[in-house]
Amino acid sequence: MIPVTKPFLPPIEEYTKYLDGIWQRQWLTNMGPLASDLEMKLKNYLDVKHLLFVTNGTVALQMAIKALDLKGEIITTPFSFVATTSSIVWEGCKPVFVDIDKNTLNIDASKIEEAITDNTTAILATHVYGNPCDVHKIEEIAKRHGLKVIYDGAHAFGVKLNGKSIFEYGDISVCSLHATKLYHSGEGGLIVTKDPELLKKLALIRNFGFSGPESFAELGINGKNSEFHAAMGLTNLNFIDAIHKKRKEITEYYNSKLSGLKAVRPVWHKQGTLNYAYYPLVFDSEELMLKCIEKLKTNEIGTRRYFYPSLANTLPYLEPADFDVTDSISRKVLCLPLYFDLSLEEVDLICRLLLRVQNN
Ligand SMILES: *Cc1c(COP(=O)(O)O)cnc(C)c1O
Repeated sequence: MIPVTKPFLPPIEEYTKYLDGIWQRQWLTNMGPLASDLEMKLKNYLDVKHLLFVTNGTVALQMAIKALDLKGEIITTPFSFVATTSSIVWEGCKPVFVDIDKNTLNIDASKIEEAITDNTTAILATHVYGNPCDVHKIEEIAKRHGLKVIYDGAHAFGVKLNGKSIFEYGDISVCSLHATKLYHSGEGGLIVTKDPELLKKLALIRNFGFSGPESFAELGINGKNSEFHAAMGLTNLNFIDAIHKKRKEITEYYNSKLSGLKAVRPVWHKQGTLNYAYYPLVFDSEELMLKCIEKLKTNEIGTRRYFYPSLANTLPYLEPADFDVTDSISRKVLCLPLYFDLSLEEVDLICRLLLRVQNN
């Protein structure tokens, strides 16, 4: 059985060596020393000014919307994981979808302006599969209309744009450290901002709004994360180069073997680095893709239609709406298995099966 993804697990003793300290300190959560250490190490690794380690990527999105005090309409992409949209609704705002670009699969920045109304307060865009959005154009539009910008960087761990961390763009960027992500802490999320005032506010929000043992400065939530999760994050950070190297190798192997397949890869931002978070393919037709899924399934190989269907016409709490590019792409996009333990022999098998489907 080859799953579409598998969490990276470090050698167990690398993780358990953190447990003695946790037992000695009896400090299990609430911004403990391991969580602080993880924040410091991630700041260094990602080369960002400020960062908070939080519960998960979804809460990070909700905290970002809350901290920026957003109301009314938020422009966003229908081609993302459900949390991008649900966090907007959860915070009492209205998601306004803008179609994606058919090459990058990110929000089409040239269509943002026509969606702006008097009620628009922000843009929340996803760096889909880690591919940087057109951040410069988005920033320019946001400035012109006085809008805030949040990036859902759940896929974009470690990505740089023009030599700078992708998380340094926008007012706030968030990342997910969920077990299935490229780099993870079991459950976890990151919030990045360049603004020290915003950081202070987010730190208060993360801890119920407490400004002292008996005083509150903000409406807060429990957005903290535990020492056990921090330990997993610290352990996995030691393997990040190996993870990156292996994923790059697998990706390039897929690329070389699948060049004859009737499918294309998303067009990457020219100034952006790759993090090999996923291996998406946009097939020429849904029919071919469905046959490929079937073929792989009978050989016990998992795939995922990620993202399908479009968020604009599936959520029971929103009026359905169609978007030409998103609807067409989401029907034809498939992510192939990609994880640290995947062997090149397995990749070879996957590729041979795919090509066999096409050539039959
Ligand atoms: C995984 C993911 C999230 C949610 O992150 P969690 O840590 O699972 O809450 C949000 N947006 C995108 C694009 C994701 O892939």
